[in-house]
Amino acid sequence: MIQKGMDHPLQSTGVNRGAVKSVKRSTLVVFCALVMGFIGWCMLGLSWYGDSSGEARVIASLATQRARAWAMVESAETFAQRPLTKDETKSLQATVDAFSQSDDELKSGSLYRYGLGSSSPEVEESMTRALDLTEMIRSNGTRLLAGKNADAKELRSMVKTFQQRCIDATERVVRSSQSAGQRAALLGFNLIGGFVVTLLILNLWLFQPSLRRAELAVEQSTQLQDQLGKKNELLVERTRVLDDQRAEVEANRRELMIRNQELESNREKILAHEEELIKQNEELQEKQVELKHLVESHQKLKDLQAQAARRAEDLFTGVPVACFSFDIDGLLHQWNLAAEELYGYAAYEVLYQPMWVALNMPEAEEPSREAIHEVFAKGKSFTSEWTYFDREGNEKHLITTSFPIRDADGNVIAGIGATQDLTARKRYEQELLDANAKLSALAVTDGLTGLHNHRSFQDMLENEFIRSTATGTDLSLILLDVDHFKKLNDTYGHPAGDAVLKAVAQLLRDRCEQPFVPCRYGGEEFVVILPGADEAKACEIAEILRSGVEALHPEGLLVTASFGVATWYEDLRSRAEMIAQADKALYMSKHGGRNRATHASAFNHDPMPDHGNGLGEAAA
Ligand code: GH3
Ligand code: MG
Ligand code: MG
Repeated sequence: MIQKGMDHPLQSTGVNRGAVKSVKRSTLVVFCALVMGFIGWCMLGLSWYGDSSGEARVIASLATQRARAWAMVESAETFAQRPLTKDETKSLQATVDAFSQSDDELKSGSLYRYGLGSSSPEVEESMTRALDLTEMIRSNGTRLLAGKNADAKELRSMVKTFQQRCIDATERVVRSSQSAGQRAALLGFNLIGGFVVTLLILNLWLFQPSLRRAELAVEQSTQLQDQLGKKNELLVERTRVLDDQRAEVEANRRELMIRNQELESNREKILAHEEELIKQNEELQEKQVELKHLVESHQKLKDLQAQAARRAEDLFTGVPVACFSFDIDGLLHQWNLAAEELYGYAAYEVLYQPMWVALNMPEAEEPSREAIHEVFAKGKSFTSEWTYFDREGNEKHLITTSFPIRDADGNVIAGIGATQDLTARKRYEQELLDANAKLSALAVTDGLTGLHNHRSFQDMLENEFIRSTATGTDLSLILLDVDHFKKLNDTYGHPAGDAVLKAVAQLLRDRCEQPFVPCRYGGEEFVVILPGADEAKACEIAEILRSGVEALHPEGLLVTASFGVATWYEDLRSRAEMIAQADKALYMSKHGGRNRATHASAFNHDPMPDHGNGLGEAAA
């Protein structure tokens, strides 16, 4: 590389500047010579063109003249035979005029002397010879026009000669033209040669000092070249070093390219990773938001759990049911206010002891352990009713339900016992049972006499009737009616009548032992069901009762009653039929005179013996 500040060798000396000037000058001279040569050649060309065109015109004009001469020959030959027509005369006139005009021009030389080189003597002579005949030819033409005969034969031979001379002149013109061209070419070459010689002279004169200067310049330039060669060697050396460095740089560049490619691929990987990281980051952010929500909801849940625990604690403490919690060993862990009230023990007195120990009830250990086993081992609830005596010795009927408490995994971690006091309920239940019993008794009992009432009687008789029908066991029925009771009422009043009825009822109760059942049938009528009693037994009982009433004297009055007796037999279809038979027998007793007993067999099959007032006899 050329260092900066170093002069260019060709611009370092004045010699060089002179050589450059000389070269410029000689170049200018050569340019001028060339321009002059060009102008000369143009002039030669123009001259040659002028000659050629003049010669061409001469040749053409000679040919035309020949044609016109031949036209005149034809007209002369025609005229020799007949006069010319008007048109032929007119045509001949034009031919003669044109012939004359062209002849004048050729003669005056305005045609064949047009070019620079057309004035050769041979041409002049040929032209003159050719044109000598034109006058005669034209005069023949004029004669014809004037209506005079022309010698056509002579004219023909004249024209033939004219033609021959024209051809000759034409050839001469052509040859002259060729020689003129050769001369012009020679002149041109001479001019060029002259110019070249002039240039050589000028060169020698003008360029010699320039050449010397140029030699000097060449010498200096050789020196400079040597210097340049050395510098060039230096440059080559430096270039080699530079090449080495460049090769090294190239190797480095390739390595860099490889590394760059690696970096590019790494960059793409990093970009891909970056995208993945961005996605993961977005996912993480979403999860973070989700986690935040979860944490918030977890916190809310914890708060709710704490609230729920507090509420559960408050609920447990304040719930109006006696509750306690216990572990697998039966130790008490919680004991609420209702439990304190129900059991009569404060929490501090019972906690962390087994319940049966705390309540001083060793007999409760076994059932308590059973409950603990059900709750902890089986995970089931367990309910038991039991009797508890408090510190004051009051008896309480309690029902305790034990059930498991589980953790989140479902493991039983504690048991809860809830106790209800059934004492009041039990008492109410008992009272209710008593009331129901009373009501039931009232439902089947006659209010005035205390005996079974009519409805109860019907039910009992139905049962006994069914049994007898099924088993064939004996069954009898006694129906009795107080005699003249209306009169008694009317005479002594209803209270007295009631008293009589009560007294009769009491008598029936006294005399009728199990399984005989006395009942009030209605009004002043009574009935006794006698399961297992046959006719004889029934009649015996009827008589006992009749005599008993007669001997009763309630309110100091003599009271008697009439009796109808019926005994079951297989043909009886219903209890109503049995009652009807007893009633019919009673009717018979009434009609028989009252104060007597009659058995239905009296009108069914074997009539019952009529006791009449002589029942005592029968009894006897
Ligand atoms: P007989 O000898 O034919 O049976 O005549 P009797 O008067 O007893 O029979 P009756 O059917 O004519 O009269 C029955 C009376 O019994 C009529 C009724 O006032 C009375 N009586 C019915 N139930 C009661 C009661 O519960 N108390 C009282 N004091 N009287 C009653
Ligand atoms: Mg009656
Ligand atoms: Mg009566």
